[in-house]
Amino acid sequence: MRLAAYASSPEQTLGRRHPEPPPGHRSEYQRDRDRVIHSAAFRRLEYKTQVFVNHEGDLFRTRLTHSLEVAQIARTLARSLRLDEDLAEAIALAHDLGHTPFGHAGQDALNDCMRPFGGFEHNLQSLRVVDELEDKYAEFRGLNLSFETREGILKHCSKKDARALGDVGRRFLERQQPGLEAQLANLADEIAYNNHDVDDGLRSRLISVEQLMAVPLFARHYTAVEKRYAALTPKQARHETIRRMINSLVSDLIANTRVRLKAADPRSAAEVRARRTPLVAFSADVAAENLALKRFLREELYQHHLVYRMTAKAQRVVRDLFTALMEDPRLMPPEYFQQAQAREAADGRAGRARIVADYVAGMTDRYAIDEYERLFDPRRLR
Ligand code: MG
Repeated sequence: MRLAAYASSPEQTLGRRHPEPPPGHRSEYQRDRDRVIHSAAFRRLEYKTQVFVNHEGDLFRTRLTHSLEVAQIARTLARSLRLDEDLAEAIALAHDLGHTPFGHAGQDALNDCMRPFGGFEHNLQSLRVVDELEDKYAEFRGLNLSFETREGILKHCSKKDARALGDVGRRFLERQQPGLEAQLANLADEIAYNNHDVDDGLRSRLISVEQLMAVPLFARHYTAVEKRYAALTPKQARHETIRRMINSLVSDLIANTRVRLKAADPRSAAEVRARRTPLVAFSADVAAENLALKRFLREELYQHHLVYRMTAKAQRVVRDLFTALMEDPRLMPPEYFQQAQAREAADGRAGRARIVADYVAGMTDRYAIDEYERLFDPRRLR
């Protein structure tokens, strides 16, 4: 299938920070996707929290299965809009690489700890992982990904950070847009987590079908499913409803984006980037429905008493780990200690803090819990 004129074409990539010969039997973006899959940070996603901490149950989404669902939706969107599927997939698989252990609870705690030293933001950290922290190639640091994949990973960014980032930061200063594949990967993320959080929320019994009937998007599809099928089990009704919700969001996004593309008529990816507003978007009605679902999940699931208790505990683990390691970086593995010393010699305490944050952010949930016990439980020998 030929790509549309406004797609990001791998032949016209803006390139890699460290120039490399073109890949032989893959496109530039396929190579990016493959490098992400082979990274250590990607494997760690398996043991990182999405909403439910990894050991709360084997069937809940993790960062890894979440990222796979985002990639699946992103590829569908890309293919129907004649955009580059490999690029959309690479961005989707990489978008959460910088997440701390324990999901947003962990990120908030680490951000608090890092406030005097420039802060911590998981989105920025995802870029740092692919640009700097993955360390296994002979010729460059990081994964040396294409510009288009990197700009897609960086979804938002402060002016101050944007200035420090150079090329990928520029659009935040000039108030421009990323390519269409980045725009759709961002919305694929939202479709994936809203829907799988309904599924996990119901499965965990922290929210109920009765409560969800106040959410128009859910109620409409659930009612239709109940009417159409008389004898479904609760599990079947839940899944049938959620697949219809995902389908209706994806269909609306494709249809509405086609309308917008037709009206704006961009002739190239450069014209897409030069715009002030994104072209990939839900229709106004569906955007409102999607927002209502998001609001419901925030109030009823993410702030649920039991989730809150786990959140508070997770924040304490992250905070205590950071404080102990910041005070005495020698407690970290020797390679991190050496890095902390080198960075401190160059940038002072902020340099030390950044390496401690990298170390803590890289931990999986279970590693963080185990490390916490190793550091604070005097009965643990090692
Ligand atoms: Mg995500």
